[in-house]
Amino acid sequence: MQVWKFGGTSVGKPERMHSIRELLNNDPSRKIVVLSALSGTTNALISIGESAKANEDVAAAGKIDDLKAHYESFIKALYATETGLAKGKEIVDAEFGYIRSLVGIKPFAPKQEKEIVAEGELLSTKMFQAYLEEQGENSVLFPALEFMRIDADGEPELAAIEEKLSAMLSQHPDKQTIITQGFICRNPREEVDNLKRGGSDYTASLIGGAIRAEEIQIWTDIDGMHNNDPRIVKRTFPIRELTFEEAAELAYFGAKILHPSTITPAKLRGVPVRLKNTMQPEAPGTLIANQTSEREIKAIAAKDNITAIYIHSTRMLNAYGFLRRVFEIFEKYKTPVDMITTSEVSVSVTIDNDENLQAISADLREFADLEEHDRDQNIICIVGNFSADKEGIALKVLDALKHIPIRMISYGASEHNLSLLIHSKYKAEALNVLNERLFFYEDAMKDIFTAP
Ligand code: ASP
Ligand code: MG
Repeated sequence: MQVWKFGGTSVGKPERMHSIRELLNNDPSRKIVVLSALSGTTNALISIGESAKANEDVAAAGKIDDLKAHYESFIKALYATETGLAKGKEIVDAEFGYIRSLVGIKPFAPKQEKEIVAEGELLSTKMFQAYLEEQGENSVLFPALEFMRIDADGEPELAAIEEKLSAMLSQHPDKQTIITQGFICRNPREEVDNLKRGGSDYTASLIGGAIRAEEIQIWTDIDGMHNNDPRIVKRTFPIRELTFEEAAELAYFGAKILHPSTITPAKLRGVPVRLKNTMQPEAPGTLIANQTSEREIKAIAAKDNITAIYIHSTRMLNAYGFLRRVFEIFEKYKTPVDMITTSEVSVSVTIDNDENLQAISADLREFADLEEHDRDQNIICIVGNFSADKEGIALKVLDALKHIPIRMISYGASEHNLSLLIHSKYKAEALNVLNERLFFYEDAMKDIFTAP
């Protein structure tokens, strides 16, 4: 079985729902299909909840009417038959009637607020299931609220999800497509709750892990992860394969990909995650798995607004406990450190939140000397498979950057990352030369050498 997840834009227009049906039909595997709310709906529902909380019932009612009008015109284009449309109207009337009744309950509690927010996914899945039924597809709707559970800390209960879901699946062995809601779940108080904003990816990963799916596919409107920032670098391309660790390194750099914790259940159970593009379904997308067969250097990413702090102390020479003292200060000011390099008598670190920089510096000066901080720096991160026996990787990277002053280098912390610190004025140049040298130069050379 596979798990396919479609986000808000992928279900946001009636014709997009039509193409999802086609995509499903073009692939023979049995699937659980996780849907988000239509784009814009979750925000609208949150805003309705806010009005209700502020006792602005007239405003809340107005927002409900506006949103309902959107759904009424949506279903007119979604269904092809009178019967289909009647069913769609029934769903929209019922769900919006329920939203109205929730707004009326006083005092307005977080419990109602979460129920209102859950309506987005309830609407999209019920409407889509009714559409598949209208079209004579062999599908069924599994209410996520019957199997998706979180514990008192908000953590998903994988074992309980697995048990409940497999029981439900065994009751419907003949169904080819199983539709369910992303994002929503129940908490230990049996209330409706959710997996936080953007949580539908998490739902897909939890389901995929729970049923040990063959593959989890996340369908969006971009063609997978790119090897470099397409806003700055010309010749970027989608990465075919990434390991879970490489994906996590890139996620930190704000690459447009799943949040690393989102794919944890998939990683735990070794279920590959594929990022696919609804606009270009035939493209292979990006596959995130335990192992990959691809090239050793996978991607380049950059993180802006970095400050470097240079700490010296002759007391560090052959001493222990010095680093602890340094890091205690960062801990005290709740400031995460990104990169670290050390020599016998100095430590350099980078931070991206310089809110407490003055206080941090003052505390550090009590036992060390500080060189002037470098602000406006950039971490360039090269991600790939750099296991200990690989040779020549650092050489290729440094050779590409030979005209750019480098302030720090960090290599060997993990087998997936080489990071460099440069001034942000060199960022575009660095990304571009690295792109050419690491991704195109080799290919060009290969062509030359293999040419007849
Ligand atoms: N609809 C929810 C949100 O907008 C969940 C999701 O789309 O992943 O955050
Ligand atoms: Mg999303």
